[in-house]
Amino acid sequence: MDGKIEPLLVAHHEAAHAVAAAEHRLRFEAVTIKAGTGHSGQLIGVHYNLLQDEQAVQVKLAGIIAERIYKGRWPQGAVFGAIDDLAGAMKLLQDRNDLRFSLDWSIQSTGQLLLRKWSVVRRLANELIERTTVPEGMVLEWMQERPRQHRASWTPRTYKWLLNFLLSDAYEVLAHVTEHTARTR
Ligand SMILES: [Zn+2]
Repeated sequence: MDGKIEPLLVAHHEAAHAVAAAEHRLRFEAVTIKAGTGHSGQLIGVHYNLLQDEQAVQVKLAGIIAERIYKGRWPQGAVFGAIDDLAGAMKLLQDRNDLRFSLDWSIQSTGQLLLRKWSVVRRLANELIERTTVPEGMVLEWMQERPRQHRASWTPRTYKWLLNFLLSDAYEVLAHVTEHTARTR
């Protein structure tokens, strides 16, 4: 990781959280790329309905998956920037009977959702570069428009890397270290 933040990559990451939330009818106030403590942007005031865990999982996974779609490969250091998102998703999935199956399904569904709505993700990312923060209303309006499917080559294998990472010891170590850092900050 060279530590340099790429604004458009961050914008696509945050835009994807917002588009996934809108697609799953989860309310939020706004999405921003204004950096804060420990993050380079966020979905402001999002309401997760506990009965809709799967939607929340997909909103959390959307950021890092959008980075993959935007770059055409997994960007260097992507998991470091998204470790809070990933830990949040894993926490919601922890009681599922078959974690590998559930996680695989969630990752692939999120990928499909983002490819379907990629024209909105891209438009929102550009708008975030322009004005830093975009309210929910504007995102919902764009969601109504007929989306253009992204023509990225998509295979289930594209996301295997993320699946395998999340089930690896490397994830456990990284998530634990970050949790510890957050607690002692
Ligand atoms: Zn994120």
